[in-house]
Amino acid sequence: MTETLTDPMALEDAVTLPTYAKPPVALVRGDGTRVWDVDGAEYLDFYGGHCVALLGHCPPRVVEAIRRQAGELLFYSNAVYSPVRADAAQALVELAPDGLGRVFWCNSGTEANEAALKLARAFTGRSRVVAFGDGFHGRTLGALAATHGDSYHAPYRAVLPETAWVPFGWEGAVEQALADEDVAALILEPMQSMAGVTEARPAFYRAIRELCDQTGTVLIFDEVQTGVGRTGAFLYGDHVGVTPDLVTLAKSLGAGVPVGAVLVNDAIAATVKPGDQGTTFGGGMLAMAAAKATLRQLTDDGLMARAAELFDRISDGLGRIEGVVEVRGRGCLIGVALDREARPVAGALRQAGVIVGTSGRADTLRLMPPLTTTDEDVDELIRRFAAVLGRGPMRDP
Ligand code: PLP
Repeated sequence: MTETLTDPMALEDAVTLPTYAKPPVALVRGDGTRVWDVDGAEYLDFYGGHCVALLGHCPPRVVEAIRRQAGELLFYSNAVYSPVRADAAQALVELAPDGLGRVFWCNSGTEANEAALKLARAFTGRSRVVAFGDGFHGRTLGALAATHGDSYHAPYRAVLPETAWVPFGWEGAVEQALADEDVAALILEPMQSMAGVTEARPAFYRAIRELCDQTGTVLIFDEVQTGVGRTGAFLYGDHVGVTPDLVTLAKSLGAGVPVGAVLVNDAIAATVKPGDQGTTFGGGMLAMAAAKATLRQLTDDGLMARAAELFDRISDGLGRIEGVVEVRGRGCLIGVALDREARPVAGALRQAGVIVGTSGRADTLRLMPPLTTTDEDVDELIRRFAAVLGRGPMRDP
């Protein structure tokens, strides 16, 4: 049947599992904040390829680095040393706060969380995890157990480790949950993205740091979305003066090439020995060339400061549009609350040539543009947004 399908969307639907409800867009090319579909239609991408395109699509420095690396040594595992892996790890720990001096490389966000949860259990000798309502940490079984929501868990409940859930932003509930002496880890997205881009008070983060210290619980910040400068600081914890014991990263770290990492504090790192954790592809040369080039450009081009500027310009412009109730977030991780359902608005924006994300909150769109977005791109976003919302109520196109 499949050889008669020439439409790429029909073909993809016919031969892949229907795990994503995709809009009818098949992309073939990207450059900066723009992507183009098979018919040549251009889109302004404020979804950043799923919060990945930190430096825009096909950033020349990263593309050049991976081209060069691909011609030298495409891959070799952690069974050997690698200068590009050493350089990428050094670049990463230089940007991390003092104390988070070691890196474990992997390939995705869920794998990073999986590794972090294992490290916490091994270090403490305890088994339980405390996580937050509406948090998202990935879909492999360990990370899935810490991801909140029946729709994610239902078929797997029998094999998932039990998690204690607490409301985000409420340190009193954390204190109660950590009274259980078998808690190995407290894991959170410091800014809950899928939940609609929400933050807690700075005092909350400091309080949970103290509670973890008092109870010997490992504090894990899942910075898969917030990390690598996206919120205007290298890590979210930098904004609130909190250094977790473990930080997980992915998405932006390779600017489009799959790279995951766990930043590990010195006390935990000191207990790890050969054989405790592993992955064939983590730390592969292509991924390391991408991570090194991404981290270098982030600092060379002052992009963390740019992320903060972009937030101000975007929130100022969108905040003036009738129908926008609130603009939340920091840097280039932005929630836009509307006075109506967000999903049809995302569809109408797409038809107007702008790609944005939705969220777990029915009224909230998510914007995760590249840190290299120009002022002109922002002005264009705001013009098209105003035109779409100005058309009044709409159905999901
Ligand atoms: N953690 C957070 C905060 C995420 O947003 C995601 C993915 O969206 C993950 C973990 C899982 O990352 P991945 O899809 O790379 O496994």
